[in-house]
Amino acid sequence: MFDLIVRGGTLPDGRSADIGIRGDRIAAIAPRLEAEAGEVIDASGDLVSPPFVDPHFHMDATLSYGRPRVNASGTLLEGISLWGELRDIATVDEMVDRALTYCDWAASMGLLAIRSHVDTTPDHLNTVTALLEVREKVKGYIDLQLVAFPQDGLYRAPNGRENVIRALDMGVDVVGGIPHFERTMADGAASLRDLCEIAAGRGLMVDIHCDETDDPMSRHIEALAFETQRLGLQGRVAGSHLTSMHSMDNYYVSKLLPLIAEAGIAAIPNPLINIVLQGRHDTFPKRRGLTRVKEMQAMGIPVGWGQDCVLDPWYSLGTADMLDVAFMGLHVAQMTHPEEMARCFTMVTETNAEIMGLTDYGLREGALASLVVLDAGNPTEAVRLRPARLAVVARGKVIARSERGDAALTLPGRPASVRRRAP
Ligand SMILES: [Zn+2]
Repeated sequence: MFDLIVRGGTLPDGRSADIGIRGDRIAAIAPRLEAEAGEVIDASGDLVSPPFVDPHFHMDATLSYGRPRVNASGTLLEGISLWGELRDIATVDEMVDRALTYCDWAASMGLLAIRSHVDTTPDHLNTVTALLEVREKVKGYIDLQLVAFPQDGLYRAPNGRENVIRALDMGVDVVGGIPHFERTMADGAASLRDLCEIAAGRGLMVDIHCDETDDPMSRHIEALAFETQRLGLQGRVAGSHLTSMHSMDNYYVSKLLPLIAEAGIAAIPNPLINIVLQGRHDTFPKRRGLTRVKEMQAMGIPVGWGQDCVLDPWYSLGTADMLDVAFMGLHVAQMTHPEEMARCFTMVTETNAEIMGLTDYGLREGALASLVVLDAGNPTEAVRLRPARLAVVARGKVIARSERGDAALTLPGRPASVRRRAP
């Protein structure tokens, strides 16, 4: 007897299986479970996947687009300046409301684990207070991991370092940084040494906004790899964005990638944002501003797609759908081989879970019973269609359902309805 059985779904690896759930855990997975259940979801012919995971987001800023005004230049720097105004006029309650609304969107899309950076620049730390409250409120259905992020610089902003420490003391999970925004290259490198030592001392993970610039001489990832290695932080450190690598000299990159691999650093490109923010100072040819995704993967470096922003000072669109992110990443990184297209799906599920250190994740017996049923036949079709999430299960409970995206047709001699899945 199970509490819930998801019957007949196609798993990402192509197997067809029943998934039996008891309480908040997956109790059994088999081609056919001959057992009763309190509730049954018929997933025959549909893709059943572990939930989507977003390893890079900014939940303190989300759903604030247009406040106090829109980003006219479309640049990272105007976005940072706008956010600098907004974070001082936004109240804790208002930030909590926006974040909870976003979490509703995420739940409806099967996005059940999110790593959000939290700006620790202002002394009032209202951002931290708000997101700690949100983390507690959503913990029954979303794993929300928070990163202490000194948006205006660890050393460049007054009290930048003190406020990171205060945020960690308040219960923020991960150490963040932004070396390319410090005053000098030397300050950037010093900030990484400092932040990695703080993380090592507290047993925490590290996630750095690293080299989010078109400047090929922005090489803080090299210092991050060095500090990770020196302090034994392998497997606990991520470099987000890494866009300068797009513009770096190829010979230098041939030295750099083995250093990143050796240090066990993961990379988190954010294709929706990188493609609109980077290259803004270029005429033509205009750079894509995405890091070297396939090249890092070929070296064994874990690379996951992050979303970064939804309706905020940096990005005017966004839907909480990690398949939008995978779709854009696939195009910009030209990952069109069948194996690469399927990998883009894995990046927004399993790879991102690995980067966030989620140990109870996955479709296996004993793991948390969180999954999503998609109106698609396989992972590549899911990326192509970005289809309805027919059912979302979080910790054993069905938390969202959507209708299929079929359209009714009124064309003479043609079928009465159409579903855009491959025959
Ligand atoms: Zn970011």
